[in-house]
Amino acid sequence: MNAIQQVDNINQFVEVEAGVILENLHQKVKESGFIFPLDLGAKGSCMIGGNIATNAGGLQALRYGVMRNLVLGLEVVLADGTILNNLNPVLKNNTGYDLKHLFIGSEGTLGIITRAILKLNPAPAFFSTAFIALENFENSRELLNRAKIFFGDKLTSFEILWPAFYRLLTNENSGNKKVMPDNYPLYVLTEIAGSDRAIPFQMEVFLESALNDNIVVDAVFVQQQEDRKQFWQIRENIDHILVQHNPIFNFDVSLPVSEMEQYVAKVDAELKQNFSVVYNYVFGHMGDGNLHLMINCGEGNTDAKELVEKIVYAALPSTHSSVSAEHGIGLTKKKWLPFSRSPQEIAVMKSIKNVLDPNNIMNPGKIFYCY
Ligand SMILES: Cc1cc2nc3c(=O)[nH]c(=O)nc-3n(C[C@H](O)[C@H](O)[C@H](O)COP(=O)(O)OP(=O)(O)OC[C@H]3O[C@@H](n4cnc5c(N)ncnc54)[C@H](O)[C@@H]3O)c2cc1C
Repeated sequence: MNAIQQVDNINQFVEVEAGVILENLHQKVKESGFIFPLDLGAKGSCMIGGNIATNAGGLQALRYGVMRNLVLGLEVVLADGTILNNLNPVLKNNTGYDLKHLFIGSEGTLGIITRAILKLNPAPAFFSTAFIALENFENSRELLNRAKIFFGDKLTSFEILWPAFYRLLTNENSGNKKVMPDNYPLYVLTEIAGSDRAIPFQMEVFLESALNDNIVVDAVFVQQQEDRKQFWQIRENIDHILVQHNPIFNFDVSLPVSEMEQYVAKVDAELKQNFSVVYNYVFGHMGDGNLHLMINCGEGNTDAKELVEKIVYAALPSTHSSVSAEHGIGLTKKKWLPFSRSPQEIAVMKSIKNVLDPNNIMNPGKIFYCY
């Protein structure tokens, strides 16, 4: 099921089957002058059905939203064989419950997504991408606020990279170019895009003002596709971490930007108290309040894994956070679901599951322990 069935230039949507690879969709809609803005490191292999089932976020969620914001209609096959056709491309449709949202992010537990109607956006003609070094986290918060105000909806990405991440991803075996020295305390990778020819100039003005105000200590920015790709490879080539360290425990948490610095410091301190070897690579979509942590503590046994999970999740602020910003619950985070969802919410989710899949044949065992 990998057909791109129609690209509607006038109404700005595309109809696709669920097995379309994300990158193939990017290429197809580009021919018509559009973008489908979901963009993530796995784009060469992940499929639209999986992107919808996990409500993927990615590198441009700051500007275009997550998958939930990009889906106009869905076709889903239910557990009893019913084909639920909601392939309606209209933006406004207040005719009762919006059923598609039940399936977006449901990790295949409520039905199988077979087709989708997705929203397109005009392709921006101009880009500017900057790698920025900062003295401290407070300055990165100030920079994010300034960027939101200065660029408005031209701001597509605002990614943060802790120094250990930048050092590893630009070391000599990484295959990546060091775009600035690796001894700064913090890095930001940000991008703006739009139809305005002045985009590169705007980035220059923005960075100059931040440098003058001592918000940033160093910055480089580029416009050309090849150069931008080099910048993004540093952020995206996380396989390099897996090559350098084994095992790695992966985390994907959401929390308010105002709490990120304390959070990372707390996790680091507790890891060091409990393990003699600790590598904690922190990076992520700061603009969306989402951090990824890739942790190696020398050991890979179940006890070590559980202790690391406890440290990472217990350090989250008890409200206003999530144990899974993007990757879903699946099998491995089931235990931690109650950290982010109340008993009442979990009970309602289980009721929905029971109604749509009473025999528990749709991805049994995912998200909850039992139904
Ligand atoms: C290198 C890398 C970078 C990543 N970066 C990001 C990122 O920046 N942001 C982000 O949000 N995510 C990111 N991810 C995670 C990514 O979003 C998911 O892996 C991807 O969206 C899932 O798509 P998939 O085709 O790989 O699905 P799979 O892994 O095959 O499936 C994922 C889940 O969806 C279910 N599913 C799959 N297809 C369907 C269907 N048709 N109907 C119903 N259920 C279905 C599966 O049963 C499974 O539970 C990254 C992953 C990798 C490997």
